Amino acid sequence: MTHPWRAEGAVLVWGLAAAFLIGWLENRIDLALMVLFGAYLGRHLYYLRHLLAWLQESSPLLPDGTGIWAEVFHRLRLMQRRHQRRKRRLGKMLKRFRQATEALPDATVVLDENFTIEWFNPAAAQLLGLRKRDMGLRIHDLLRSPRFVEHLRRRRFEHPITLPAPPNERLQLEIRVISYTKDRYLLIAQDVTQIRLLERQRRDFVAHASHELRTPITVLKGYLETLIDTEEAVSEPFRPVLERMDQQIRRLQYLIDDLLYLGRLETSRNETRRQKPVDVGRLLDDIRRETEQCHDRHAPLQLEIASPARLLGNEEELRSAFTNLIVNAVKYTPADGSITIRWYETDDGACLEVSDTGEGIEPEHLPRLTERFYRAPGAEIRNPTGTGLGLAIVKHVLNRHDGRLEIDSRPGHGSQFRCHFPSQRVCP
Ligand code: ADP
Repeated sequence: MTHPWRAEGAVLVWGLAAAFLIGWLENRIDLALMVLFGAYLGRHLYYLRHLLAWLQESSPLLPDGTGIWAEVFHRLRLMQRRHQRRKRRLGKMLKRFRQATEALPDATVVLDENFTIEWFNPAAAQLLGLRKRDMGLRIHDLLRSPRFVEHLRRRRFEHPITLPAPPNERLQLEIRVISYTKDRYLLIAQDVTQIRLLERQRRDFVAHASHELRTPITVLKGYLETLIDTEEAVSEPFRPVLERMDQQIRRLQYLIDDLLYLGRLETSRNETRRQKPVDVGRLLDDIRRETEQCHDRHAPLQLEIASPARLLGNEEELRSAFTNLIVNAVKYTPADGSITIRWYETDDGACLEVSDTGEGIEPEHLPRLTERFYRAPGAEIRNPTGTGLGLAIVKHVLNRHDGRLEIDSRPGHGSQFRCHFPSQRVCP
């Protein structure tokens, strides 16, 4: 028996002893026992009443109690103290969390599963124009931009969207929605006006510089070609020098063309009126023929059109992306290798695959290949006029077509470049 039960037993034993003694003295043991059990029951009822009052919070204190009740009340008091300490700790944490989110320069809004506003910080009031009375309203009833409404409707939050701030249209906000539990979302809006301005200035600078460089380079190229073609104009030892100059000038020209094209991809809007179902089989056949005509000795190009599916997109952009992949395969594969171009449907859309048996790429370079100007070591030997911008263009075009690029390669065995397109882009 545990200690509290011993105490309770003692209460009972002493009570019985007293009842027997009094009953024996008064010659009424039955009455004395009844009084004893009545008093015993009354004691329990008394403590139960206190316990109930305490649980209902109508009494702040618990009595000390006797017997088993002393232990019960003691344990409850310990629990209450532990609970109060935890509550104080949580309260402090919550306060610190609120102070931190209130100090955040980014707007933070907590939304429920229907995008109803549950809480927001002061930056949200400033950047999104939310007011205390908006609590309980749905965020898209307040931020009514059709793009934002569509973004929430689709519930695909991998990418942020950029919108003008409702209280001040000159501010650009990058809005990111994060699902942090099954039925709660966090909306974070960041003021990216300065970043966007700098990006635009950078793009304009590159576009202007490329544009300005184009004319002098065309003139230089013209003179150089005339010199090379006029036999008596240049003595024989200088001929290789001029040919190398011609090669570098051609490289400069490609570089400028690629930079201007990338700039156009970045700045032009992805207009739906320019999107139409593109016959990928025919497009690939055109590109194959053009590539074969433009390159002298190259590995054979094999075309496998496994699906008649067409792709909803901008034909000129798709042509540029696919040409880059196919020309790369030609450039980086020796003439005794082979190149296969495949167009096929997948479970979730369609795929263009360009695979070659060329030199392949070391794994550490794969993640960086789509960066501008990134070229794996040794690329300049195989492709001296390469710019390092081709795969950046491919990535951009795929982004504009909701697609993604996947690259597999094994050094010495070859590479596969796959462009995956989602089913909503594929027309049967
Ligand atoms: P580049 O003008 O140098 O070809 P890209 O952006 O098209 O520029 O390609 C970037 C780099 O990726 C290339 O420099 C080359 O190192 C590598 N690469 C691209 N395609 C292939 C391929 N089919 N085989 C091997 N390496 C490739």
